[in-house]
Amino acid sequence: MLDMTPVETIERQALRINPAKTCQPIGALYAALGIHRCLPHSHGSQGCCSYHRSHLTRHFKEPIMASTSSFTEGAAVFGGAANLRQALKNIFHIYNPDVVAVHTTCLSETIGDDIPSIVKAARDEGIIPEGKHVIHANTPSYVGSHVTGFANMARAMAELFAQRNGGAKDQINVVPGFVEPSDMREIKRILFEMGVKAVVFPDTSDVLDAPQTGRHAFYPKGGVTVDSLISTGDSRMTFSLGPYASEEAGKILRTRFEIPNKVLDLPVGIGATDRFIEAVMGVTGTEPPEAMMDDRGRLVDMMTDNQQYFYGKRAAVFGDPDHVVSMTEFLRDLGMQPVYVVTGTPGRRFETAVKGILAQAVPDAKVKAFSDLFELHQWIKKEPVDLLVGNTYGKFIARAEDIPFVRFGFPILDRVGHGYFPCVGYRGGMRLVEKILGVLQDREDRDSPDHSIELVM
Ligand code: SF4
Repeated sequence: MLDMTPVETIERQALRINPAKTCQPIGALYAALGIHRCLPHSHGSQGCCSYHRSHLTRHFKEPIMASTSSFTEGAAVFGGAANLRQALKNIFHIYNPDVVAVHTTCLSETIGDDIPSIVKAARDEGIIPEGKHVIHANTPSYVGSHVTGFANMARAMAELFAQRNGGAKDQINVVPGFVEPSDMREIKRILFEMGVKAVVFPDTSDVLDAPQTGRHAFYPKGGVTVDSLISTGDSRMTFSLGPYASEEAGKILRTRFEIPNKVLDLPVGIGATDRFIEAVMGVTGTEPPEAMMDDRGRLVDMMTDNQQYFYGKRAAVFGDPDHVVSMTEFLRDLGMQPVYVVTGTPGRRFETAVKGILAQAVPDAKVKAFSDLFELHQWIKKEPVDLLVGNTYGKFIARAEDIPFVRFGFPILDRVGHGYFPCVGYRGGMRLVEKILGVLQDREDRDSPDHSIELVM
């Protein structure tokens, strides 16, 4: 399928082939689903909204609710204010959400629709009922990626809801990054086990992994509540997990309310999880319970027991910057050699972070932001790897080059489990070790001649 990919690379400025990212509104829509009783709204044409919804549906295997301003030629010429006003009228009348989270698209951004003014006018006209909320984020797709779209909507939550109502509450804020519902659930579990009161926002657990009850709930029971979001202005600290997806929200709270913002890597792998737990301990003074330390010990045990399968293996990693940075560190800690590390999201800090992680272990690793899968494939063709880690789109490279492949990140369109089993924390680390080890050992089994295939590995 990718047989025509040439080995020789040429520097491309204005062309991306098989980009390792998707468009901003997808991230904004996903983040908005993490507010309780929120209807995400796409201010643009129906096609954009259909694509965003179907992409998320394919990843989460759940119906994704969102409304659209349904632009036609008229809106493209005269602007979409009338469409948005009409949409808000219909949405509150028919679907009765507590929050409508509006994100823009390429078209509405190019027209230049001023969403705050349109929303203000709608409120003045009584279109937005008392006690209901409309928040918004600008998410043109000709800049950034789905990760920055998520960051922009998380920032909007902090900007438009947080209030200081007096008295520092004994709670922390956690912006969990563009991670799975299972990861958000695990982050909450870790904090709960540590006895820490936290507002995690956004929070898609119990929204996109809600149990099957036989009855459809248009607004599932999960999601961060408006009251919790308001209370973030009184918290003592914000932890932004993953700078690309989460720092913006923390920055807003720091600027508006002088709440310190600690930016950490996504707690994927042992090192990043240790730093997260230590940072929480440093602020709250709480100790992790023995059971959590036992989880850590089991992860260390798995890593050391299977060192011989990991050591020296060459790996390629691609995907969202926050995911890739932490995964690269974890692969290094497993004794592997992440030789190619790529993200499609622009931003030099990615390259600085990854090069820092690999400075000693793999000093000549190729690391690139704003790259694509075509370029990664070319590198692999030139000098192969033993393992490929990334989202579903990597399966074509894995197939073409016959490489063991671990699905990790967003989107995963052809497997299930990511929404239910976390990758973050020590338990998530164990799951990742199992996944990586599984594909490496399957490959060894497949390639061993009959006389040397091992029963016990
Ligand atoms: S890239 Fe722009 S036009 Fe295309 S689906 Fe995304 S928002 Fe819509």
